[in-house]
Amino acid sequence: MIVIIGSINMDLVLRVPRMPHPGETLSGGQFRTIPGGKGANQAVAAARLSADSVKVAMIACLGDDAFGAELRAALRSDGIDDSHVSTVGGTASGVASILVDAGGQNSIVLAAGANDALSPAHIDAARALIEQARIIVLQLETPLPTIRHAIKLAHQLGKTVVLNPAPAQVLPADLLAQVEYLIPNEIEAAMLAGLPEASLDNDAAIDAAVAKLRANGSANVLVTLGAKGVYAALSSGSEHFAAQPVKAIDTTAAGDTFIGGFVAALAEGRGEADAIAFGQRAAALSVARIGAQTSIPYRHELEA
Ligand code: ADP
Repeated sequence: MIVIIGSINMDLVLRVPRMPHPGETLSGGQFRTIPGGKGANQAVAAARLSADSVKVAMIACLGDDAFGAELRAALRSDGIDDSHVSTVGGTASGVASILVDAGGQNSIVLAAGANDALSPAHIDAARALIEQARIIVLQLETPLPTIRHAIKLAHQLGKTVVLNPAPAQVLPADLLAQVEYLIPNEIEAAMLAGLPEASLDNDAAIDAAVAKLRANGSANVLVTLGAKGVYAALSSGSEHFAAQPVKAIDTTAAGDTFIGGFVAALAEGRGEADAIAFGQRAAALSVARIGAQTSIPYRHELEA
């Protein structure tokens, strides 16, 4: 089993001819709601990409609003165990308000809502679920004390801990030391290594940044590099894996899809290189489609 601990959001996506100025009212927008949030996206990706024998569960919080009900239904429709997805009374579900202009540029405002209510008590209540899991996956869209608590418990129980340190923030070394696979993108890797973002423009620079992260204690570091693929520093050695060539339409949830595919493959006992290739094939399919969960492919599409 794979357990994902993290955020669930409703993405409120407005396609606009151009970004509005402060105080301006702009007509001509097109509106859609799409289930999202890094935690939920990774859970959906893991569920769609896993073998039938691998179960996926989520530990998370929703608000007691209409979005909460819709988001829970979306998880269930992908076969995700939601028995530890709590509904928090008097709270709104997490939302991301996303404006996308004609050129594909976006600006995003997040309101964490119920995601901020995920507490160490929720993790303790889900201990039996965590005990059954082989892999635990976390991101940084829920409160850090809860993430620390969950990582500590999972590590003590001998689980494989996967951390996607997104959105970027500096993390303490003792936390990173309990992570078996740290999966940042370039921006997050630079921030965690204390380097300027633009400095990671070649393999040697990435290798130096990754060496710093590993010195902090992360066993394996996989830096996702968008169209340039994945730089993986594994216990067995470092290697740059090329991305699948594809015409990118919308890269929303590319990283989440990669992570879901990677852990789905690991959960069925496949090797690291194989799991990276599987994750990248899934991510490439997702960038050729619009939206977060709407873009995440199913296992049969990869086998085709
Ligand atoms: P994030 O969305 O977290 O910033 P990245 O942009 O690094 O993550 O993308 C994650 C993975 O998705 C990449 O490692 C790659 O496999 C795939 N990917 C992203 N953009 C492209 C692209 N333009 N073409 C092919 N694959 C892509």
